Amino acid sequence: MYAPAMTRTRPYRYYDTCLSLCPECLRKVEGKILFRDQGVWMHKRCPQHGQFKVLMADDEAYYRMAREVFVKASEMPERFNTPVDYGCPYDCGICSDHEQHGCLCIVELTDKCNLTCPICYAGSGTHRTTQRSLATIEGMLDAIVRNEGEPDVVQLSGGEPTLHPEFFAILDAAFARPIKHIMVNTNGLRLVTDRAFAERLATYRPRFELYLQFDSFERDALMELRGADLRRSRLQAVEICNELDISCTLVCTVKKGLNDREIGKIVDWALTQPSVRGVTFQPIQQAGRTDNYDPGSDRLTLTEVRRQILEQTTVFAPEDVMPVPCHPDAIAMAYALKTRDGALPLTGMIPKEVLIEAARNTITYETEPAVQNALFDMLSTAHGPESGTESLRQLLCCLPKVDAPDGFGYRDLFRVIIMSFADAWDLDVRSVKKSCVHIVQPDGRLIPFETYNLLYRDELETQYLSPIRAEIKAGRRNER
Ligand code: SF4
Ligand code: SF4
Repeated sequence: MYAPAMTRTRPYRYYDTCLSLCPECLRKVEGKILFRDQGVWMHKRCPQHGQFKVLMADDEAYYRMAREVFVKASEMPERFNTPVDYGCPYDCGICSDHEQHGCLCIVELTDKCNLTCPICYAGSGTHRTTQRSLATIEGMLDAIVRNEGEPDVVQLSGGEPTLHPEFFAILDAAFARPIKHIMVNTNGLRLVTDRAFAERLATYRPRFELYLQFDSFERDALMELRGADLRRSRLQAVEICNELDISCTLVCTVKKGLNDREIGKIVDWALTQPSVRGVTFQPIQQAGRTDNYDPGSDRLTLTEVRRQILEQTTVFAPEDVMPVPCHPDAIAMAYALKTRDGALPLTGMIPKEVLIEAARNTITYETEPAVQNALFDMLSTAHGPESGTESLRQLLCCLPKVDAPDGFGYRDLFRVIIMSFADAWDLDVRSVKKSCVHIVQPDGRLIPFETYNLLYRDELETQYLSPIRAEIKAGRRNER
């Protein structure tokens, strides 16, 4: 008697192909994006180094929403810096194939630091000595202005930028250019040890903000991430910001099983600090110095951090933590208004269909262009204090269920951001073309943060990229 054969099925659902890199040799490899048990996986294979499987997200629905719903027309820089020659990501940048301008542009002043953190994507430390000259840095600022016109946010970084002997001259040079918002990325140690320095820093407000390292309240976590017990200096740095009225964003590098359980505590505490405008969570990427980090077991995805924000705080609901349309795979954002009792989340008050339609420029919710702009401003990293206040004012006035409190402003605004920078394990060429965080080089190139740490920083370009480019040129690899 005839018996139909059993249907054979895979244990996953196939979603897409992708282009990624081999984590060993950094050569481009093809892969698949697969759904399994609500998780999203990338499977890829290098002819030389074998197969790799990496978790891309633990929330299939959110991953799909970011990819399929938060799609807007790419906003371009005013110029490109490199030709398309070897194929992405070997042509940075910004090459004419890139799909987003720099919402945030970084200038690294020095690789010198007063800490030598066991994890440091820049590989900086007390043993490093390079300082870029003021003239070189001015040229780099000019390169950003040429690309961006009026750059939204420029961040002075390092190493520890406050150690640069001409730090204030550099800050003045940045302020002399048409940059809307200037940030200094710091571990805060100079702030707490040099009162005159802190007081001088305070004179730069209001276009100014510190991007202040703040990973944990606990000794063990700080020792593992920073190699030092920084509990006291962390709190002191925020106290000084409160006292001197210096706006700051707390930046928390998160490692699975180490400090991710403190996510809610950090958000709740930050909400009580007058100077703190928000918290940025940044899962560790496999780049630079990564002692004590195993990309297999310690990797945290954006959706895992988002899940923990939702589980560990009472402030935000799922609809409040949404993808940023500039680079929706890599950045999520939640805006809230600080209130006496905590915070009033804002993002979820915008009807989703408004975001979707607005993203396609066919907004129907309100016909006022100002409202459309307000929505985009609010969900963009291109967001300085003045524009934030104005956008929120417009937005709140247009949402019937929200009363705009009298006299509210930038100080009342609080943003939680998740920035998940891809590394060689989870890089997806489709996504990295949307990168909106760019690092400027002395030669005028602006390179996406992710590819810079993988292929372009220091000797990496010579060590890894040059042989790959030579192979492509010789026609041995079909990557053009
Ligand atoms: S990441 Fe962007 S700038 Fe770099 S090669 Fe790809 S498209 Fe060009
Ligand atoms: S992570 Fe920051 S503080 Fe730590 S060594 Fe690197 S530059 Fe210095």
